[in-house]
Amino acid sequence: MAKGKYFDGLTSSEHEATINASLQSLGIIISDSYGRPKFLNWNLEDISIEFNEFAKRVELESKTEPGKSIELELSEYLSIQDQLPKNLRLDIRQNPFKKLWIFVAISLFLLAFFVFGYFKILPFLAEKVAMNFPENYEKKLGQSVFESMKNDLDIDSVRSHDLQLFFNGLGYDDPKSVKVFYSKTEDINAFAIPGGIIVVHKGLLNAMSDYTELQGVLAHEFVHIQLKHSLRLLFRSLSSYLAISLVFGDINGILAVIIQNSNELRSLSYSRAMETEADIKGAALMVERDFDPEGMIKLMETLKTHSPKMESEVLKYLATHPDLELRIDNLEKAYPNKANTLNADSLIFKNIFLNLKNER
Ligand SMILES: [Zn+2]
Repeated sequence: MAKGKYFDGLTSSEHEATINASLQSLGIIISDSYGRPKFLNWNLEDISIEFNEFAKRVELESKTEPGKSIELELSEYLSIQDQLPKNLRLDIRQNPFKKLWIFVAISLFLLAFFVFGYFKILPFLAEKVAMNFPENYEKKLGQSVFESMKNDLDIDSVRSHDLQLFFNGLGYDDPKSVKVFYSKTEDINAFAIPGGIIVVHKGLLNAMSDYTELQGVLAHEFVHIQLKHSLRLLFRSLSSYLAISLVFGDINGILAVIIQNSNELRSLSYSRAMETEADIKGAALMVERDFDPEGMIKLMETLKTHSPKMESEVLKYLATHPDLELRIDNLEKAYPNKANTLNADSLIFKNIFLNLKNER
């Protein structure tokens, strides 16, 4: 026997009801408006059940007389449900686990979705955007990045002019599209900026012993530009910003964000795969132009000799050697026969190189 409320489906008033379950039917006792008991009998087959989990209430509705229903507290219902057929029983005990399982499944799915989105979709989009970034915007971006660095770089315009002559002579590309600059700083380094700007530091030039190394470093940086390596890195590091900007579809806004963050370019470093690609494709460019690809290997040796001195031998080994040694290995595998060809222009390159090294 359970206590509940009966609704007649005609008026909004509720009647206190006592419910008894038997094999065939549900006996319902209510009192009418005069307080006299009234007996109702619902066939079990004609009852549908609904469980309001939130309110912890069970509603039984008559299928034959829609609107007529009984509402019971969950505890009341549980006291009679054992006498009811299976289709009218609640599977309460399993529910918490079921709910937990669904919760865990949904959480895992969302987590997987975001992780996948973060590590796969965003970089993929960043790559797409970088590769399809309009060239004039890339130049504009590179120009403003260069302007922001110019003070620190201490550009020597005379030597930059010579360096440009050297680069143009290489014939790696339409000379007008790449600008080469000589920085008077002692860094043993060179780098490329999106839009076709290459900067070679005095420190690197003076560390080189051979003009073929300069051919090598320019080939290497040129490949970085050609394959938009730094643009791809920049877009990757800014991909969450970009995702937002793209939603608003405003290319000038995107450009502004990138320029604001272009300082990032200084701290970004190429992946090992990108460096190897620039080495191998750069050496291929050299071979194509009848230059000695050994110049690229000599360049690596120079970098290795001048790599930052570390206190600990272990750190030193970890920090510098594997990368450069691996790159030298890769190059030696790709170009086992040292070409040693003397290009017709070798003397010109040699002279410009020596000029660049001379203190003026
Ligand atoms: Zn590089």
